[in-house]
Amino acid sequence: MKHPVTLIPGEGIGPEVATATRRILEAAGVQIEWEVISGRADESTDQGQRVNQAAIDSVRRNRVALKGPMATAIAGGAPSVNVALRKSLDLYANLRPVKNLPGVKSHFEDVDLILVRENTEDLYSGLEHEVVPGVVESLKIITERASTRIARFAFDYARRHGRKKIHAIHKANIMKLSDGLLLESFRKIALRYPRIDPMEVIVDACAMQMVKNANKLDVIVTENLYGDLAAGLVGGLGVVPSANVGDDCAMFEAVHGTAPDIASKGLANPTALLLSALLMLHHLGERAAAEKIEAAVLKTYRDGIYTTKDVSGKANTEQFTNAVIDALGAPIAR
Ligand code: ATP
Repeated sequence: MKHPVTLIPGEGIGPEVATATRRILEAAGVQIEWEVISGRADESTDQGQRVNQAAIDSVRRNRVALKGPMATAIAGGAPSVNVALRKSLDLYANLRPVKNLPGVKSHFEDVDLILVRENTEDLYSGLEHEVVPGVVESLKIITERASTRIARFAFDYARRHGRKKIHAIHKANIMKLSDGLLLESFRKIALRYPRIDPMEVIVDACAMQMVKNANKLDVIVTENLYGDLAAGLVGGLGVVPSANVGDDCAMFEAVHGTAPDIASKGLANPTALLLSALLMLHHLGERAAAEKIEAAVLKTYRDGIYTTKDVSGKANTEQFTNAVIDALGAPIAR
């Protein structure tokens, strides 16, 4: 039986890395029925800046999605479609495995860090208003419910994957109520997992630890704003995958944005979306296929002949994709 999966190719380099990922999954023989749909409402209407309701319905129906990046205006403009999608589907846990790839230069070796980021609240609630001209207020929302479920998600993940330590990242010395509530919820949940060591680190100390000893970090759980970290530790945005998980469905997407500077040039590195797709295959119970593709990706990086420019290689998207398919031992269909 084919797995029904919603595919939102996204914008900028999104469609290029989505095509590459799809080719590799198909070459590995994974049986997926893709439902391809735009994440953004029709550009020609005034809804162009909004999330496409049909995409939300499709993910709800299929319960699994693979998604490319969608652009967000830096200041002003409409709220982020990426954030709106995660919120509408209540994908509260953002999981980012950050791990070295062979041959990719980075400041640290042996990084194997799991970042668990709360996805639905904090300053990302987007509740801002101008109090009087020249004064703006932005609301940080932290609830016990969301803090408890993200802590439970992190501890469950750690238990399933044999991880030993979880660091809760906070700024409760200053934000005593909001970050205090996160910590309180974390401590309560930690009591139910006696084999996992709960630690608490202030966000600035955590940043320092990432710069000095990133390879000492195991699992990190944190609020939305503090969680946008760590991709640079292992060779940049082109190689870090992520999963957004809720109780009913899951959406897998790269950490990077639309990279307009290299879009449509065939230069994008599809590794981040491909590794996100491997997280998806594990989620779908396709473990053997995920391991086979991972081995092919690692071989391609170890050989180092067909890696892309962002990781100091010379290959383009298609050459990298073909090399991974080659490493699977599959025929290359162009
Ligand atoms: P957005 O506005 O959508 O966030 P951005 O360009 O500001 O886009 P990113 O897309 O995250 O932010 O990327 C920053 C830079 O990292 C890009 O300009 C690009 O050079 C590089 N980059 C990101 N992802 C990739 C990738 N998959 N392959 C190669 N380079 C990448």
